[in-house]
Order: sequence, then C-alpha cells, then structure tokens
Amino acid sequence: MTNRSLSLLTAYQRKDYWGDKMVVVYSENQKLACEMLSKARELSAELNEKVTAVLIGNGKDQLSSELIIHGADKVVMTGASLSDLKAEEVSDLLCALAKEEGAGLMMIGSSKDGKELAARVSSKLGVGCSTDSKKLYMRDGSICSERVVFSGNGVAVERFTSRPAVVTVPPKAYDPLPADVGRQGETVRKELPYGTYGSRTVKVDPMLSEGANVEDAEKIVSCGRGFKNSADIKLIEELAGALKGYTLGCSRPIAADLKWLSEDHWIGLSGHKVKPKLYVACGISGQVQHVAGMRDSGLIVAINKDANAPIFKVADYGIVGDLYQVLPKLINAIKART
Ligand SMILES: Cc1cc2nc3c(=O)[nH]c(=O)nc-3n(C[C@H](O)[C@H](O)[C@H](O)COP(=O)(O)OP(=O)(O)OC[C@H]3O[C@@H](n4cnc5c(N)ncnc54)[C@H](O)[C@@H]3O)c2cc1C
Repeated sequence: MTNRSLSLLTAYQRKDYWGDKMVVVYSENQKLACEMLSKARELSAELNEKVTAVLIGNGKDQLSSELIIHGADKVVMTGASLSDLKAEEVSDLLCALAKEEGAGLMMIGSSKDGKELAARVSSKLGVGCSTDSKKLYMRDGSICSERVVFSGNGVAVERFTSRPAVVTVPPKAYDPLPADVGRQGETVRKELPYGTYGSRTVKVDPMLSEGANVEDAEKIVSCGRGFKNSADIKLIEELAGALKGYTLGCSRPIAADLKWLSEDHWIGLSGHKVKPKLYVACGISGQVQHVAGMRDSGLIVAINKDANAPIFKVADYGIVGDLYQVLPKLINAIKART
C-alpha cells in the first residue's frame, strides 16, 4: 500500500465528548454487520467497552442471535420496518441510541444507504466521520482509520481526536468471526425517538439485474472495452464456463455506457468492490477507477494487447496479446486439461 499511497493526516478537532461506553455496529446488510463485529470485538477489547449491534424493525430474533454468536454483547432492536423509514429517521434512531447508551465508536456498513446515514449521524452529533475505512486501529489512545482516496492513488490516514467516532466499513474489509453458538448476549427492544420530515419518495426505479453477485464471488472473469461487440462476450462466458464456478464481471463502460451487461457485473470505484481469490481481466486497461474495485483480489491475471496497459502493474500474471486469439487457445487448453 505504501509505495502507491499518499498519506494524509486529518485530525478532528472537536473536544466536547459525552461518553464512550460501547462500540455500536449497524448495517442493513446482515453479512456486513457480522464482518464489522469481528473488528468491533478487537477494538472493544482495547477500549474496554461492550459491543452493541442495532437492528431496525420487529421480529428479528434470528438475526439478533446471529449477531450475538458473531460477537455482539447486546442487540438493540428499534424502529418500525426499515422500508417504512427514511434516512433522516434512521439517523435519528442511531443518534438517540448513541446518546442514550453512550457510543464511543459507531461502525456503519458502507452501502449507499450506510454512507448517507453516517454523514447524517456524524453531522447531527457534531462529530467526525471517516467513510469507506479499510483499516481501523488504535494508536496512542486514538481511533485511526485508513481509506483509499483520489481514485485509488492515495491512502488517507485519519485520526479521531474526539469521540464518538463515526466510520463506514465496506464489505470484505474484515472476515467475520467463526460462529460461537454458546456465546451469550442480551437482546432488548427500545422505542427511540425520531423526527417528522417533509421529504418523500416520489418514484423508485428498480435497478436492472441479471442476478450476478460479484461481491461474494470467489473467482471472477471480467471484460472491458477490448471486446469489439456484445456478441463477443460469449468468449468470456466460455472461459468462465471452462474454469467452472466463475462469475462474470466487467469494467464501467461495458455496463454503464454500452449496456452489454447489467450493473450488477460492474466492478470499480463507482461499481462493486470485489475480493475474489482469482480475478481474470480481459481487455481491461486497468484505470485507477477499475483497480480501486478489484485490487484486493488474491491472484490477478490480465490479458491485454498493450504491454504498457496499467492493469499489468497490479497483475500477478499477464498475457500480452489479442484476446480474440488468446481466449480460444486458453479455453481449449483448459478444456483439454479438465
Ligand atoms: C468518477 C469515475 C468513476 C469511475 N468508476 C469506474 C468503475 O467503477 N469501474 C470502471 O471500470 N471504470 C470506472 N471509471 C472509468 C475508468 O476511468 C475507465 O474509463 C474504464 O475503467 C475503462 O474501461 P476499460 O478498461 O474497459 O476500457 P479502456 O480503457 O478503453 O481499455 C480497453 C483495453 O483493452 C485493450 N484491448 C483493446 N483491444 C484488445 C484486444 N483485441 N485484445 C486485448 N486487449 C485489447 C486496450 O489495450 C485497452 O487497454 C470511472 C471514471 C470516473 C471518472
């Protein structure tokens, strides 16, 4: 990280501070909440604080048990159904909880909704906020957060000089702790106050989806503008088929501009962040915005006809060649072996 990073130091100067009794974890995405709990446990041990997870809605006993066996000491259920609540209202609930119980650190899942919430919560509480934190740790008694900035060209190191600290955590930053089925915790229902707001949802446009789940994929074969037309995508599907168990990914132009694939395949800064064991990039130049979404992949293989393409800087293995010649040979070779 260091050789391509620019280190920045942001110090939050706010001095008034009204409590640090617990680390609060919230995400509408249960899997992400469990991932954050593992980091929350580690930090809470250093801070000597309890970990409280928040669930919005009623009748979520099973989710609550899951949060406890993955590290929560306490689960607070509050509010009505999440789909009936606006971001303003959910942020009110989280602020009320933070004030009532005394939060020292609030970890919010870095989804689109989560980032909006974190901004609202930190602004309402008048405290600092660090979004998309890839690393969280204590240094000299302060909470520090590291996050990728400038489209992947730098790493900002941010130190909270007051608490509570609000951070958002992206998926896959931490592995969840193994489920400890014997772990005991408390689940409480709290009616917390929230305001009345004038905003209303006028229209919801469902995102077009082909059901691809690149974020959870262990192996991804990805295509970029090196493909001349949409019909040629079948080549990459054939490669994915030959390799078995692969999920199809793509660069932004393929999903956003050309619309050859739906947005759930789109990987990068403004698309999905992925961390597969293997990432095969075909005809992708490797601009920082794409690399920002796949740089954490285990093994990266790139096929590009331009030997100077930036993708080769992050690739573990590179094939310099025309993908229209390389892919059929690769597919045949894999088929012959398997
Ligand atoms: C704010 C912002 C956010 C963005 N977010 C994202 C994002 O989330 N994800 C993303 O991907 N991009 C994103 N972009 C766009 C990004 O900057 C690049 O434009 C994009 O990643 C390029 O896609 P590409 O590599 O498919 O195409 P290109 O950059 O056009 O690269 C095509 C590559 O294919 C190679 N090639 C061509 N023909 C062949 C062939 N026959 N055989 C082998 N190789 C061949 C070329 O050498 C070239 O390297 C964003 C941009 C901005 C400004």
